[in-house]
Amino acid sequence: MHPRPRRRRSAASRTLAGSIVAVTLVIGAASGLMVMQMRRSAWEQVGRVSQNLLESVEHMIDRNIELYDLSLEAAVDGLRNPDADGIAPDLRQLVLFDRSATANGLGAILALDAQGRAFADSTAVVPRPLGFPEADFFLVHKALDNAGLYIGKPFRLMPDGRWVIPLSRRLSYADGAFAGVVVGTIDIGYFNALFGRLSLGDQSRIGFFRESGELLVRSPVMEGAIGRSLASAPHFRHFLEARAGQFVAVGYTEAIEGLFTYSRIGNRPLIATVVVPTQAIADLWLPRAMAIVALVSVLCGGMIALTLVLQRELERRSRAEERAVAANHDLARLAHTDGLTGLPNRRHFDEAFLRARERMAREGGALSLVLLDADRFKRYNDTYGHLAGDEVLRAVARVLARQVREPEETACRIGGEEFAVLLPGVSGAAAVARAERIRLAVARLQIPHVGNEGGTVTASLGVAEAVAGETGGQCFSAADAALYEAKRQGRNRVAAQPDHEDAAWVA
Ligand code: GH3
Ligand code: MG
Ligand code: MG
Repeated sequence: MHPRPRRRRSAASRTLAGSIVAVTLVIGAASGLMVMQMRRSAWEQVGRVSQNLLESVEHMIDRNIELYDLSLEAAVDGLRNPDADGIAPDLRQLVLFDRSATANGLGAILALDAQGRAFADSTAVVPRPLGFPEADFFLVHKALDNAGLYIGKPFRLMPDGRWVIPLSRRLSYADGAFAGVVVGTIDIGYFNALFGRLSLGDQSRIGFFRESGELLVRSPVMEGAIGRSLASAPHFRHFLEARAGQFVAVGYTEAIEGLFTYSRIGNRPLIATVVVPTQAIADLWLPRAMAIVALVSVLCGGMIALTLVLQRELERRSRAEERAVAANHDLARLAHTDGLTGLPNRRHFDEAFLRARERMAREGGALSLVLLDADRFKRYNDTYGHLAGDEVLRAVARVLARQVREPEETACRIGGEEFAVLLPGVSGAAAVARAERIRLAVARLQIPHVGNEGGTVTASLGVAEAVAGETGGQCFSAADAALYEAKRQGRNRVAAQPDHEDAAWVA
């Protein structure tokens, strides 16, 4: 049994697959780039907007503190004025605390003496009995004479418990000794209201905190977070690396990753931040990117599926073609093969003879033709039967097949018990020698044939060399005449006619 030939993909099918893979790769890469570009532009856009927002926030905080500081400075100056001691308490209150301090969420201003007790109050002619001897703003000014405007830690202001940020300045005697503190508060709710109007959307966070870490304001409001120190947060160091900047980190008050945009507020020990959660940035580009990726995937998937179908069709066709070619080949072979002996048949002989003669005419060189006829074969059939006769013909065919040198030389069965051998490149004498070898090989088979001279199967052979200018028929007739001569001379021999014109038979 023949091994099944390995299935090879056709060139067309390979080209198709290759180009589709290439197109898919190009589309994939292009959409990948597009998605990356979308992501980058979303991040850039959020970065820019955050930056702008932060500038507004920074300006707002700075401006409010500056305004309030003006009131504090006015109170400090007023208290330093020796004339202030002498005037009536209600007038003194008006002189010390201008009206600006009561607007815009700015709370009461108190003047504390060196023991931390209130001795002047912007909200009452007779100061309320308040004292802050332990407050950070009091202790800082007591310890340092150059703290300037001090922004203290936030605290809850009684009686209503509002969160406030204390702003304070030192009071000094003429010799520089500590005389007390002027302190005012800004309502954190006031900043929350301001920031609420600025927000980038539900998800963004605006806030500011002291350089030392205490959170002052966070919008949206998160009560529990105010006053807590951020100093231990892993990302806190980023705020101290530069005056302003941007980084991505996980938040502290909420464990959510976000883009932090931060800046120092003026020259104050305060830092403002705008945080936009990474998820909110992703929401800007990811849904569109997913849609593109889905669309491209469907497109590429469809293309690949189509290619597979096309490829299968191409392969089916190429297999069908191969089968048709093979079938044609078999048919052609059958049409040129003799059924009994398997040798090429008369049709093949005629074509091969024609081709050989054309080649001889074109390239020169000799061409010889040998005809072989089994001797007394009719008698053989009569004696041994037709089937045994067939067997003899097969044996003779095998002898011929062994004697010719393929593919140049050809042995054919041209009909009945007659065979022909074409010997291109072999001239008369050499052809006679070859014919003689064939004759001997047949005789050596030693097949019994009682009706034949010698008692075994023999054959007679006629040899003719093709001559330039003659027709195929003339050459064939010459060989046939030589064969006839071999028969005539007693069979089991070779006869040749070197020159067709004269009748000098050679045997
Ligand atoms: P000669 O020596 O003069 O050639 O005598 P011959 O008997 O061989 O010549 P003839 O032409 O009178 O007879 C040829 C015989 O070959 C006739 C036929 O029975 C036999 N023959 C032809 N074709 C076949 C075949 O295919 N099979 C068999 N078994 N015999 C065949
Ligand atoms: Mg014959
Ligand atoms: Mg014969």
